[in-house]
This record gives sequence, C-alpha cells and structure tokens, in this order.
Amino acid sequence: MSKLLIDGKRVPSNDGKSSKIYNPANTSEVVAEVCVGSIEDARRAVDSAYAALSKWSEVTPRARSLVLYKASELLGNSEAEIANTLTREQGKPYPESLNEVRLSASVLRYYAGLAPTISGRRVELTDPTEFGYVLKQPVGVTVAITPWNSPVVLMVVKIAPALAGGNTMVVKPASSTPLADLMVCDLISNAGLPPGSLNVVTGQGGVVGEDLISNPKVSKVAFTGETETGKRVMSIASRGVKRVSLELGGSDPMIVFEDADMERAIDGALVSRFRNCGQVCMSVKRLYVHEDRFESFIQRISERIRKIKVGNGLESSTRMGPLHSKVQKEKIEEQVSDAIDKGARILYGGKEPGDFGLASGYYFLPTLATNVDVASKLVKEEVFGPVLPIFKFSTFDEAISLANDTQFGLGASVWTRDLDKATKAANRIFAGTIWVNSFHEPQIDLPFGGLKESGLGKEMGFEGLENYLETKAVVVNPLGKKRPWLD
Ligand code: NAD
Repeated sequence: MSKLLIDGKRVPSNDGKSSKIYNPANTSEVVAEVCVGSIEDARRAVDSAYAALSKWSEVTPRARSLVLYKASELLGNSEAEIANTLTREQGKPYPESLNEVRLSASVLRYYAGLAPTISGRRVELTDPTEFGYVLKQPVGVTVAITPWNSPVVLMVVKIAPALAGGNTMVVKPASSTPLADLMVCDLISNAGLPPGSLNVVTGQGGVVGEDLISNPKVSKVAFTGETETGKRVMSIASRGVKRVSLELGGSDPMIVFEDADMERAIDGALVSRFRNCGQVCMSVKRLYVHEDRFESFIQRISERIRKIKVGNGLESSTRMGPLHSKVQKEKIEEQVSDAIDKGARILYGGKEPGDFGLASGYYFLPTLATNVDVASKLVKEEVFGPVLPIFKFSTFDEAISLANDTQFGLGASVWTRDLDKATKAANRIFAGTIWVNSFHEPQIDLPFGGLKESGLGKEMGFEGLENYLETKAVVVNPLGKKRPWLD
C-alpha cells in the first residue's frame, strides 16, 4: 500500500480509505493500492509545511542548493524503478517515462544552480540621507496540484523552484497517477529537507484540492490541469488573494510554409502529436500546410504514421502506448465521430487497433484527418489524444489568422527556411512559446506558460523561480533624521 507523505513520514490516510491504481495497457492489472487522503490529512500536511517554513526558509540559499543537488542524484539512482512505475500507472512508453524522470532530475539541478543567485538590490532614494533595498523572500506554504499526463516532471517543476526559494510545499497529485510522484517526493524529502518541508496528500481534487487552496496558511497555489479546473482553482484562491500560477489546456498550431524542409516538418508533427499518445499540453493539435505542398505532405505523412507501433509501454518495440483512461478514450472517440459527422475524411486510424492482444487496454490508433470542419470539436476543443487534423492555407496572413483562431495560447511552431518569415510569425502568433523548425518540447532554461485561456505565470527558467519569491521593499534612515513637522 502506497502511503501519504506528511511531516517527513509515510503515513496511512486518516480515515483508512484507499483505492486501486490500474494499468491503462491492461485494465485488469492492479499496479498498486494507494491511500486516499482526506480533508484532515490535507490540513495536517499544511500544518506540517507551516511549521517547517521557519526552518527551511532560514537555511541559506547555498545550503538549499546542496539539498536539491542531492535530490537530483537520488532521483538519478532510482530512475529505472520510477520510470517503470510511471509507465505502468500512466501508460506512456518506458523510454518516455525515463526521459521524464531524467528531465525532472535536470530540473532539480537547474534550480539547485539558481538558488544561490537569489538576491535583492540596494536602491538610492531621493533623500540622500536614506537608502532603500529590495528583499526577495519565500512566499510561504505553497500547494502544487498536478495532472496525470506527465505527473513527475509537472510536479518537480513546482517543487524545485519552491524549495530553492525557501518555501515549503504540499503536493496533491492526480488521483490516477500518485505512485511515481510519491516515490519521487520520498527521495527529495530524504535529501536533507527538514521534516514537513515537502508533503504529499492524495485524494479527490474537489475535496482535498479545494481544501488545500482555501486553507488560510497557504500563500500560493501552482496548478496544472484543464482550463475549466484552473478557473475554479483561481476563483477559490481569489477569496484569500493568494498567488496562483496556472498551466492549462492548449491547442497548439503548427504551420508548414511552402519553403519548409518537409521531412523535418513531418518528423516534428509525428513526435509532437503522438508522443504520450497525444496527451501532452503542448502537442501539435492543428496542422496547417501550404497549399503547394499539401498533397505531397499528406501522402508522405500517411506513409509514416502507419509505421508507429502501438502497444504496451513496457515492450521495447512500442512507440505509442494506450490512452490513460476510459474517460480519455471516450472523449477522443466522441471528438472523432463529431468530425466525421461534419464531413471529415479519416486518412488513417480513427478507431481502436484491431489487434486482439491490445483489447485489454485503452488503445487508439494514431489518426490523421482532413476536410475537418472548423466548427467541429477536433478544432474547437482541446484534443488530448492521438488525432491530427490537417488543413490547407494559401497566404502568410491566412496561416497566422487560423493559428490564432482559438481561446488557447500555449505554444505554436512554424516550419520554414526563411528566418524573416519565421520571426514575423513568432511576433504575431499569440502563444507562450513559439518553436521554429523545432519539436514542441519544454526547455528548462526558458520560461514556459500559456497566454489567453492556457494559463497565467511561467514555469521553468528564472521566471519559474520568481513565481516562488515575494518582493519586499525596506527604507532605512541611518541618521535618524526627523521630519520637519515633528519639530
Ligand atoms: P484536471 O484539471 O482534471 O486535474 C488536474 C488536477 O486538478 C488533478 O490533481 C485533479 O485531482 C485536480 N482537481 C480537479 N478538480 C479540482 C478542484 N475543483 N479543485 C482543485 N483541484 C482539482 O486535469 P487532467 O485531466 O489531470 O490533466 C489534463 C489537462 O492538463 C489538459 O487540459 C492539459 O492540457 C493540461 N496540462 C497543461 C499543462 C501546461 O503546462 N499548460 C501541462 C500538462 C497538462
């Protein structure tokens, strides 16, 4: 039984509740049983983080850095075991799980490196007998609420800057993927943190999550998940005027101009759309190809997509695993059938694989669609599965306007050999990250976060650390000068 992490100890839930975690590749396989946290557990965890705050925030940034380096090393030593658990609870192929754990270890090292750079500044004031300075301090007790699609790295990008900044944290992982997260937090907690600095409470978002957000001892909430949930998180946090950062849904466009290297663009589309079975916030979700190259592009990508081997993520030949859950599968089926009803042509996929060996998991074939009506759910909603709708465009302005025709603004990519065109497109596309001839992938050194309904605030990069620092101003009157009207 996998237990909660509160005050540096693995403990059962207060009311003894537990649930089973099933393998999406074989839904009759129970990966493990996990304790389900209650509101009392959530409050205990916040109390413990609150008590630990005075100890951890007073550790010097350089000493915090050493703890984070140690945490990264511990993660590296256990990467195979964590990645195996991640594949079994989430469904993604093992190499992708391993990459996720390695990226998480790099994130810990990155913020270990940044911790000693935290500094304020001295400011000269109008009155030369006084001076001011700016202090950068921890925000306080922070809460991380995370999704199931990349549970480890999306949790670590919150933990690492929070701890680097001297904050303490309570994590609420997604209910269906708590196992690898608990393993990782156990390791980080054992890297030298005072007990209570990092806690994990499992449980339902609407119960445990909401109680954590409304707890008056919590100063900041870092949330990753669906846009609608993010709006609810923001509204609860607003009652206490708490800091929030929100990493929400996306519908990233990819634009392939007529002068692009087509093979590289097809590589980009396949990796960026079908990795993690399309369940990535920054996946390519709408592909626009210039009309002069449209037919040849379609022909070539149709040949390539057939070669993507669908299967259990623990088999070495697998390139794409199952969808994560029944809910996800039903949603994708509904989006595809709505597009077909509105006239879409499915060039490949659009259904479960016929393979008898895959009948026990939530499998769905990688899917290509054309003639997709812009009013269909495949365009209007976030598509969190392996379906790629491809559209034709004729002019630069048309491509930009199609790319921007969405309530989301997470990422986008442009594929062209013309740097002038690429930079103009990057200026005009309304998204938090623009990739030029490059896969939709996170970069630790750069801030990542969406515009419009894709979110608020940034993770990664130096900006990711600033999220967890409070700015204070101090005015010093060293000569004890009096104000004239006090004479
Ligand atoms: P979700 O919103 O259903 O759940 C996310 C987390 O919120 C879970 O831990 C859940 O238990 C919790 N939660 C649910 N209701 C809550 C409530 N009322 N109060 C507090 N917490 C609550 O999202 P999901 O289905 O787990 O994840 C998929 C979504 O996440 C997609 O929309 C995807 O685009 C988005 N996502 C965004 C990013 C990004 O960086 N922008 C990254 C990954 C995933």
